[in-house]
Amino acid sequence: MPPSDNDRSNDKALAALAGALRSATDRCVACGLCLPHCPTYGASLNENESPRGRIALLRATAEGTLKATPTVVAHIDRCLGCLACESVCPSHVEYASILKNGRALLVREAPTSWRASLRRRLIRGVDLRGAVTVAYAAARLLARLPWPRARRGPLATVLQGLPARPRPALVRTNDADGACVALFLGCTAGLDRPTLNAAIRILRATGQRVHVPREQACCGALATHAGLTDIADRQRLRNLRAFEGRAPALVSIASGCAAELRSYGPAGLDRFPEVFDIHRYLVERSDLGRLKLAPRRQTIAVHDPCSLRNSLKGERFVYELLARIPGVRIIELPGNGTCCGAAGDYFLREPGHAQALAATKAAAAAASEADIIVSANIGCALHLSAALSRAGCALPVLHPLLVLDQQLPPSQDAC
Ligand code: SF4
Ligand code: SF4
Repeated sequence: MPPSDNDRSNDKALAALAGALRSATDRCVACGLCLPHCPTYGASLNENESPRGRIALLRATAEGTLKATPTVVAHIDRCLGCLACESVCPSHVEYASILKNGRALLVREAPTSWRASLRRRLIRGVDLRGAVTVAYAAARLLARLPWPRARRGPLATVLQGLPARPRPALVRTNDADGACVALFLGCTAGLDRPTLNAAIRILRATGQRVHVPREQACCGALATHAGLTDIADRQRLRNLRAFEGRAPALVSIASGCAAELRSYGPAGLDRFPEVFDIHRYLVERSDLGRLKLAPRRQTIAVHDPCSLRNSLKGERFVYELLARIPGVRIIELPGNGTCCGAAGDYFLREPGHAQALAATKAAAAAASEADIIVSANIGCALHLSAALSRAGCALPVLHPLLVLDQQLPPSQDAC
C-alpha cells in the first residue's frame, strides 16, 4: 500500500525532530560537569539518570542506533526538566530543546502504554473550564480518605497536606483599550485567584492599565513536557490569537507559564506581546515609587522555582520587590539550586522522588528563621505546602505578590 499523506507528514516530523536532536546534542563534549548538579543523578548515581546520559540516549535514538524501549522512555520521563544542568554547562548545550524534541520523538517512536494514553487525556483536559480546580479538589479528597489502603499509596502521601484554595471572584478590569499589559491566567487560574487579584491590584497601583483576555488557553508547558506537540501547538495558537495586538507586554504570575510563553516559536509572533514574569515587569517597567507599602517585621524565605532561576534567569526580581517592604528581612531558602520536585506533573508521575526532594526543602524551611516562605510558581508552592504539612510545620507558603498586596493600604486598591 502506498504511504498516505498522514504517514508522509509523520515521517517528515520525525526526520525534523531527529535532525534537530543530532545538531543540538553535537555540542555535548561529555565532560560531566553537569552531573553533580542533577538531582536524579544525585539520587541514583546512574549515568542514564544524568544529563550526559540522557543526551547520549536521545542522540542514539535519533540516529536509529537505539530503540525507544520503555526503559529509555523511563530514563527520560524521570528527568525533572529543572535545567540545573543547562545553567552550569560550559559548552552551552541547550538541554531544554534536547529534552523537548527528545520527548516528542519518543512519543512517536515508543510503543504506547496505558499510562501514556491516560496522561494525554488528562493534559488535553486542562483547558476545560474548571478542570484543574475539580482535579485539585478530588486530589485533596483522595489524600484525606479514611481508608488506610488508600492513604498508604505514594500518590496519596504526596497529596497529603495540600492547602485549601480560596476562590474569590476575579477582580474586574476592563482596560482593553490602551492597555499597557495583558495578564495571563493559565490553567491554574481557578486555584490562584487571590494571586491574580493581587497582581491586578499591584499593577494598577503602579499606574498600569491591565487587560485580561477571556479566550486564553493553558500555556502548553504540560503538553510540551510530555512530548505532546499537537496539543501544545493548539494551545499556543489559541494564545497567539488571544493576545496578539492586545498590549505591548504579557505578564504571568506563574514563572513556569512565563518560561513556556517565552519559548513560543517565531510563527505569528510579530504582534504578540513581549512576555515577562510579573516580578521582572514590575521592577523594570512599572513605577514602583507609587507603591506605599506598610512595614512588616518578618523574615521571608524565598524559594526560587527552577523556571524562574534556570529558564528565565529572573529570580533576583522577587527579592528586589519584597525588599521594598519596610522592616522585612529577606533570606534565600537553603538549597535553592535544587528542584523541589513539583516540576509540572512530575510530583504525580514520580511521587517517591518528588516527595524526597520536597522533604529536604521542608526541613530546610523549618530549620530557617523564616516566618513565611514565598514561591513564584503555584505548582512549587502547593508541593512545598504539602511537604511542610507532612513534616508537621505550619509555615505558610505564599506567592510573593500576595505578601506585597497585604502591605498596600486600602486607598491604593484601585480596583
Ligand atoms: S551537557 Fe554540558 S556539562 Fe553536561 S556533559 Fe555535556 S558538555 Fe558537559
Ligand atoms: S533537567 Fe534537571 S533532572 Fe533533568 S537532567 Fe538536567 S539537571 Fe537532571
